Amino acid sequence: MGKKQFQAESKRLLEMMINSIYTHREIFLRELISNASDAIDKIYYKALTDDSLSFDQNNYYIKVIADKENRTLKILDTGIGMTKEELENNLGTIAKSGSLAFKTENELKDGHEIIGQFGVGFYSAFMVADKVTVISKALGSDEAYKWESTGSDGFTIEPYKKESVGTEIILKIKENTEDENYDEYLDEYRLKAIIKKYSDFIRYPIKMDVTRRKPKEGSENEFVEYKEEQIINSMVPIWRKNKNELTSEDYENFYREKHYGFDKPLKHIHISVDGAVRYHAILFIPEKMPFDYYTKEYEKGLELYSNGVLVMSKCSDLLPDYFSFVKGMVDSEDLSLNISRELLQHDKQLKLIAKNIKNKIKNQLQSMLKDERDKYEVFYKSFGRQLKYGVYSDFGSHKEDLQDLLMFYSSKEKKMVTLDEYVSRMPEDQKYIYYATGETVERIEKLPQTELVADKGYEILYFTEDIDEFAIKMLMTYKGKEFRSVSSGDLGIETNDNQNNAEENEHKELFDYLKKVLGDKVKDVRASKRLKTHPVCFATDGEITIEMEKVLKQMPG
Ligand code: ADP
Ligand code: MG
Repeated sequence: MGKKQFQAESKRLLEMMINSIYTHREIFLRELISNASDAIDKIYYKALTDDSLSFDQNNYYIKVIADKENRTLKILDTGIGMTKEELENNLGTIAKSGSLAFKTENELKDGHEIIGQFGVGFYSAFMVADKVTVISKALGSDEAYKWESTGSDGFTIEPYKKESVGTEIILKIKENTEDENYDEYLDEYRLKAIIKKYSDFIRYPIKMDVTRRKPKEGSENEFVEYKEEQIINSMVPIWRKNKNELTSEDYENFYREKHYGFDKPLKHIHISVDGAVRYHAILFIPEKMPFDYYTKEYEKGLELYSNGVLVMSKCSDLLPDYFSFVKGMVDSEDLSLNISRELLQHDKQLKLIAKNIKNKIKNQLQSMLKDERDKYEVFYKSFGRQLKYGVYSDFGSHKEDLQDLLMFYSSKEKKMVTLDEYVSRMPEDQKYIYYATGETVERIEKLPQTELVADKGYEILYFTEDIDEFAIKMLMTYKGKEFRSVSSGDLGIETNDNQNNAEENEHKELFDYLKKVLGDKVKDVRASKRLKTHPVCFATDGEITIEMEKVLKQMPG
């Protein structure tokens, strides 16, 4: 029986775990329990949707067993189990979630960050154990197998005897060292506390044999110890709890336990609706952009539960594209378990929930903008572009939803401002909302085209992202005011045209010469009133500005 090698990424992660100096090693238990819970979810779901299987709630649980003498900690579950192939693939390969593959070398060096912020899964067991054994029997299989590894030099798989379907993970807990105490992971009280802290909301019972004392028969002050099986977790999922009972730490733990992101969530939204449609939801607005957010790889969606059972891990119909950054879950008792993806799209209940959720997110963002401006700006930095895409790709009415959430850098305020703030500051004689496009704020400040508008004392919005101008073109107006580029031919600012003509005539030879030299590159060469300190600038006649032309040229197709 030869040793099999870990896939390269996995090996790297494994080494990181083995050598970890991370101080919150205890999270390994959270990871293993969450895997056990996922495995029970799977078998539960199968039983509910397959008539040939019956489901008895009492048969589904997780059990944690510490054996101090042998220094082993066992986590067993009655979940769906793994076949030989699954043991090899699921435990020999990580990277399927891409968690590591996209991290830079530098980020990887800081293993702390990764371990702390992102669920590292099964391999975290190696933070506390020097040997990990997995014994598993898959649903529908007659054979069971044992997977074993002492670290990054590989793993073995061999047939093994196991009666019941499910998985047992056995950790050989490391010996204490001078600096590190590993004994605590064999200590009953400590284990109970860790389970309570991280896994209280797991929906299946997490059992432990705990030590109890009772008076010795015939004696008043002598006691005997005995073991009694106890359920450690409260089992009520967080989303069914009352908001008032929960702290922001609870939500953060949930965010992490669910692996919604690497960051700390910026905001959570906890919804419990008991009306035309009944559902619970916990949504998060992340702080940081996921590494693949603006790529094709990114998949939006919320976890969808039907009365506590996970039906789909990324239900995209629950979120509009422009809110694709939102993470979280929805649980509704009004959804059928058996519903297929195709049917789901047309499900009336789901549509109602989606609409409801959309409004909750919008309201949350609006109140964040109003009451927590700094937070909102952090959010906008990461996801503002997505809101602008939303406005740009408007086929319905959502630009109304989004326009008040937009922000741009202001020439006057020297910071981000909303369109509402801009319009409320407009002097009476100002006709348009002015904007200037460029790569950076610094570059725009130097644009000659801004001079006339700025000189009039009008505020200019700086458009530094490709999408800005496209989005604005879709909006057309805000509160009845049209948008106008500072390089547009008509700025709606009074100038003395006779004087222009006079100047043009006076320098006719120069203008003719310039036209000849520039040829097709320009349509016309004219005297301009908009300049003060700069000798020349470009202007456009039509709707498309120079910046937009550049973007259009880069666009595929
Ligand atoms: P993740 O849970 O994010 O998928 P993990 O590293 O925690 O990543 O686990 C890897 C995979 O191993 C899981 O996706 C699952 O397929 C399998 N697995 C781990 N633990 C169990 C278990 N107790 N029962 C069944 N499958 C498991
Ligand atoms: Mg996991």
